[in-house]
Order: sequence, then C-alpha cells, then structure tokens
Amino acid sequence: MKWTCGLASVALLLFAAEVGCAQERTITTVENIPRSTWRSPDQVVPLEAPAASSLPAASEVHKFWDRENVLLFAGVAGARGLDYSSTLNLRRRGLNEVLLNNSIVDNHLAFAAIEVAGTATSIGISYLFHRTGHHRLERWTSLVHIGVAVGGAGRNYALETNHFR
Ligand SMILES: [Zn+2]
Repeated sequence: MKWTCGLASVALLLFAAEVGCAQERTITTVENIPRSTWRSPDQVVPLEAPAASSLPAASEVHKFWDRENVLLFAGVAGARGLDYSSTLNLRRRGLNEVLLNNSIVDNHLAFAAIEVAGTATSIGISYLFHRTGHHRLERWTSLVHIGVAVGGAGRNYALETNHFR
C-alpha cells in the first residue's frame, strides 16, 4: 500500500500537462487550410455548422475496453495483487505498514477490498480521461499506477526483517 496514494495527484499533474498540449495543437494556421477551399472575397459565405461527415468517425476514437486497456487494467490488478502479497509478507516479518494502519492490513478481507477499490478507482480515472478525449493520459494512468505499485512491492520485499519483535 505504500506510495500508491500519490497516484491521484500524479494523474492530476498529467492532466494539466495534457490540457496545455491540447491547446497548442488546436492552433490553425494558413498552411494547414487546403488551397482548394480558399474563396475570393465575393464568394465569402456565412459560416455554417460543420457537416456531420466532418466530425471524427466513431472508429477513430478507440473503444474504452480495447485490447490495450484490457491489458493495462490487468496489469494494474496484478500490481495491486503484488502490493497485497508484499504487504502481508512484510507484516509476517514483524514490520509495520506505514500508509494504512496494521489493523486494516491484518484484516485480510478489508485489505483485499481496499486493493480492489484502488484498481476500480484507477479504471474510473482512465474512463474520465477517455470520455474527455485525453487518450494518452488514459493509458498513462494505468502505467503510472503499475510502476508505483510494483516499485512499492519491491521495496516491501526489500525491507529487512525485524528479528527483535
Ligand atoms: Zn480513450
């Protein structure tokens, strides 16, 4: 469970960065307007709403449960499982949980529920990014979560056993 609570703030930072990039990308210059669409001043027509065909087709935006997301979410669940087992291992070796308290971790059902909730929250954040069109952040949410959880689990296993309990 160590380190994993910082995920929401990391996701927030990535979101701010993505919004900045998106604004840069939407600037339209003369160079990217096709010459065939130019009109002389007497041909100027009032602006109309874009035709339905000029909107991005549904197939251009990937489905939320595509292969990549399924693999990423499986990775998040796996990393959470690793966090769960590494934390129980740490408790068996007489060490203390820092982020949660020992009584929560020692209630294995409650602790497992927290790990499942963490996975669900991560998928929920990815979904919000997907719905708002931030598809890179949607993937990065899972990648950062996996990195932080696996790093924390590695650290849990690396902590020295308390032989003086
Ligand atoms: Zn998406």
